[in-house]
Amino acid sequence: MSKDRLIYIPLGGAGEVGMNAYVFGYGTKGRERLILVDLGVTFGEMSGTPGVDLILPDLRWLEERRDRLEAILITHAHEDHVGALGLMWERLQAPGYARDFTARIARLKMQEAGHEPGRVITVGKVPEALDLGPFRGQFFPVAHSLPEASGLIIDTDAGRIVHTGDFKTDLPPTLGEPHDPEMLAELGRTGVKALL
Ligand SMILES: [Zn+2]
Repeated sequence: MSKDRLIYIPLGGAGEVGMNAYVFGYGTKGRERLILVDLGVTFGEMSGTPGVDLILPDLRWLEERRDRLEAILITHAHEDHVGALGLMWERLQAPGYARDFTARIARLKMQEAGHEPGRVITVGKVPEALDLGPFRGQFFPVAHSLPEASGLIIDTDAGRIVHTGDFKTDLPPTLGEPHDPEMLAELGRTGVKALL
């Protein structure tokens, strides 16, 4: 049996509003290769802490292992998913990937913080795929409240993970791409180990 393991570590965003930052890892225990999904902020008024402008996720765990970080994937351009990219990129220094609209916003964040915007790379939606160490990543369109919001299909030798990101199931007219239940059903038939 393979000694490799699949790990999932939310550094922000799980069980709270804002500062989305989710780590996935795959490999031998303690040597897993890592990807980060989203790098967002929380605004004080969102989290019930008035007077605090901006709250950032605690990246110390990932920072200590950044030599194992393959990529930062950004699902969409809301501040709670991309807002910390420029502010915290220095600590991680891994390439960013997003679909075009999100990538443009992410590059602005990088530029504002004095980082090379070219470290954010534009990727297309499925079936375009990224090979990121032991991970294969694909962006699939979801309905949300801005253009090109995406979920992620993350494949590993341990199985397929679907990370939905923020999504809505509204019927058209919507802003951005429409909810596509058939595509999701088809995705389900391919065998999904974990839905996040
Ligand atoms: Zn959102």
